Amino acid sequence: MIAFGPVPSRRLGRSLGINNIPPKVCTYSCVYCQVGKTRRMRIDRCRFYGPEDIFKSVRKQVKKARKKGESIDYLTFVSDGEPTLDANLGYEIDLLKSLGIKIGIITNASLIFREDVREDLMKADWVSLKFDSIRKPSWHRVNRPHRELVLDLILSGMLDFAKIFPGELASETMLVWDINLDADILKEMAEFLRELNPVKAYLAIPTRPPAEKWIRPPAPEDINVAFQVFHEKLDQVEYLIGFEGNAFAFTGNVEEDMLNITSVHPMRQSAVIELLKKANADWLTVNKLIAQGKLAETDYEGQKFYLRNLKLSNR
Ligand code: SF4
Repeated sequence: MIAFGPVPSRRLGRSLGINNIPPKVCTYSCVYCQVGKTRRMRIDRCRFYGPEDIFKSVRKQVKKARKKGESIDYLTFVSDGEPTLDANLGYEIDLLKSLGIKIGIITNASLIFREDVREDLMKADWVSLKFDSIRKPSWHRVNRPHRELVLDLILSGMLDFAKIFPGELASETMLVWDINLDADILKEMAEFLRELNPVKAYLAIPTRPPAEKWIRPPAPEDINVAFQVFHEKLDQVEYLIGFEGNAFAFTGNVEEDMLNITSVHPMRQSAVIELLKKANADWLTVNKLIAQGKLAETDYEGQKFYLRNLKLSNR
């Protein structure tokens, strides 16, 4: 299916997905990939579907959604592979712009060292760049890149792109147990992200069945450390953990509000006390959520933090 949705997305509102790559052609074979193992690994760009076919399929889906009264905030390239492998990406964006909806692209950034790829990405309104490691050994372990890719070229391509991109830039880092959770590496990554200066740096964890069965999400304390290390260098860090929490939408139900907030970022103990006070609730609420396995308590530099408990799901 080339066009699907719109589906609610915390990052993009209501997003209509565009799949411009057949399953599964990619430059990486990430251990956590939800599309499964990479069947065709390549780094040369080529033509997959006809740009007109993509345009027609998206236009049809847009019409269908509008007929049902559904709004669409973004047309988002979110592919069964790496969208920038599509040599027609720029032309497809040109065609899609006639629909008058903003364009988003979720890319693994592995080809961003190429000028033609940067030019294509420049046409989008929102771009998310994958950034799972800054060091070669863990990059190889987590992303399992095509053997001709060079990490340093990718990183400098990301910085080159960030300097000139007029749209909204985001980054996304998948935290994987036993691979990229070393605090020193996370600090180096945070330094790099500070230079990249995304509007938001997202931290994700594997929440759906990954390509490799041995993949585990990190423990709550590791997720909290990653958040705090990033947060020390960056203004806008958020979790992207499969729960569509919204820290800014208060429902009036204190349990729900606490779970919503902690699925976006950890809460300090003082913030939890404040929230309970506002809702006329007491600490029993927290104990209950912990006992139910919905909330986790963890320490960081002498302070207690609370965050949404995470499990692999089969959704
Ligand atoms: S870059 Fe995306 S599509 Fe490619 S292997 Fe990694 S997670 Fe899967």
